[in-house]
Amino acid sequence: MDDLTRRTFLKGTAAAAAAGVGAPNALAQTAVNNHEAPTKLSPFPYSAIELLEGQMKEQFDANHEFFLALDEDSLLQPFRQKAGLPAPGEPMGGWYSWSDEFDPPNNMTGYIPGHTFGQYVSALARAYAITGNKATQAKVHRLVRGFAQTITPKFYADYPLPCYTFDKINCGLIDAHQFANDPAALPALEHALDAVMPYLPPHAQTRAEQRARPHPNMAFTWDESYTLPENFFLAYKRSGNKRYLELAQRFLLDKAYFGPLAEGQNVLPHKHAYSHVNALSSASQAYLVLGSQKHLRAAENGMQFVLEQSFATGGWGPNESFVEPGSGTLGKSLDFTHASFETPCGSYGHAKIVRYLTRITGQSTWADGLERVFYNTVMGAKPIQEGGFSFYYSDYSNHNAQKTYYQEQWPCCSGTFPQVTADYGISSYFYSPQGVYVTLFVPSRVRFQQKGTRFRIEQRTSYPYTNEVALHVWGESPQTFTIALRVPQWAGKNTQVVINGKRRQIPIQPGQFLELRREWKSGDVIEYTIDQPMHLEAVDPQHPDTVALMRGPLTLFAINAPDSKFTRAQLLAAQQASGRRTWKVDSATAPVTFRAFPDIRDQWNRLYHNVTA
Ligand SMILES: [Zn+2]
Repeated sequence: MDDLTRRTFLKGTAAAAAAGVGAPNALAQTAVNNHEAPTKLSPFPYSAIELLEGQMKEQFDANHEFFLALDEDSLLQPFRQKAGLPAPGEPMGGWYSWSDEFDPPNNMTGYIPGHTFGQYVSALARAYAITGNKATQAKVHRLVRGFAQTITPKFYADYPLPCYTFDKINCGLIDAHQFANDPAALPALEHALDAVMPYLPPHAQTRAEQRARPHPNMAFTWDESYTLPENFFLAYKRSGNKRYLELAQRFLLDKAYFGPLAEGQNVLPHKHAYSHVNALSSASQAYLVLGSQKHLRAAENGMQFVLEQSFATGGWGPNESFVEPGSGTLGKSLDFTHASFETPCGSYGHAKIVRYLTRITGQSTWADGLERVFYNTVMGAKPIQEGGFSFYYSDYSNHNAQKTYYQEQWPCCSGTFPQVTADYGISSYFYSPQGVYVTLFVPSRVRFQQKGTRFRIEQRTSYPYTNEVALHVWGESPQTFTIALRVPQWAGKNTQVVINGKRRQIPIQPGQFLELRREWKSGDVIEYTIDQPMHLEAVDPQHPDTVALMRGPLTLFAINAPDSKFTRAQLLAAQQASGRRTWKVDSATAPVTFRAFPDIRDQWNRLYHNVTA
């Protein structure tokens, strides 16, 4: 992509217009002329990428529709009640509404009232940027105005997690400003910050530090002040207000976390999993805004440590906690918990840090991990239900694993779920002065400009259920640039690329981008075949015979056959039913059906098998 386009994208408002064809004005003018630390790639704006018919679009559309329909009085009720304003509407219940029953950990009803409000606003603002739906924008504006009238420090008196909830409000308001062009959002954020200031700790607190402070009940020791900097840095970039920059720096968890991580020390064990992955995005922003190499190293090393203790699905953190490397705890967890991976929150945090690291390093392999997480976890999340019943944990237990809904209504995962599905598109493509980088293979369309000429690339694919990805190019006039395709680290030797019907004899390096540089014009077609070998992956080095069956990035689960015994050879000989999303595997007794996570409904399923040979 040329400099002109780059500038246009960075400037924001013009980007959507340049991206063209019905795209909304996705980005308000950025207040700070940001001089970001160097990055290899740049993110596209939400408006440039459109998902086409497929599982990701279905999930995004379902969440968009669900949150667009949520009752606004109910959403605003916990804030209005604390402000002493009339608070009509039905209480949402669960974690979201005030309740005298709250008694952690025995009764979590009334845990963190209003906690997901900012996330629902954020998800709707992003959905507006993607779709241009005016009703979505209008709802964002109404919610921001409604919220602005309720702001009072009284809200946070005796509130167990002030940092946690304020961080989400910050995110919602800066997204309402940036993606839904809401002029009321940044002034509301100023007031919201004033209200929470007396309740913020002096610096980021570890959980041990929180336990050492006086606390009325244990929920007060679960706040996540160390995730604040990411949205403070973004608030600074979007507003130009130095107050946010100072707060971002103040809440970096350097001594206990980023410092040791930057030195290559694995300090993850026993830490709360999702929030500490989320904190790595704060370290990434510290690199982007402050140019801090230490924080970049912390983010890269931290994520590497996470990948080293992930399940085959890409999920991590059984019982929401990181494990001790070399302890075999991941394997043991298959017998002691059904809470294997906090799915919507974990995948949201994972996707954010992968986008930062992809953008900063230009390395393709971060997205290898991300597609695993998407296909094997959140894309199989059960849809959120009326009343806020939400999918929370993926269950990899050896004993009667099944998809379930979380017992409390409106948990954290109801907030991150619509955010992560809104981010599918921007996780799929990046750009640089050389051209466009395709990180995920998803039915989708990306619009961009090359030397002032409008281009789009449309992906058509059923990947990963099939190996073929077709990319159709359209452009106003021929231009020379690069289309770079991620070659997964696990890609087999039959991976190949055909351009306009002609097989290209170019070296294809797994674990890198395949950069196709030529003059591209309307009607050009790239047919990319990704060879997806069957392979087995052990749960951890201490359990080498406890394996999951994988095809490319896809983990396959045995369905309704909890006690079947397989050999390695039987698993590896799995046969896909022609044109279908099921596989058949011979076992010691009868053939067993295997499916990918998104294709499992309520059946008993099993991820790991103790192979006999
Ligand atoms: Zn969650």
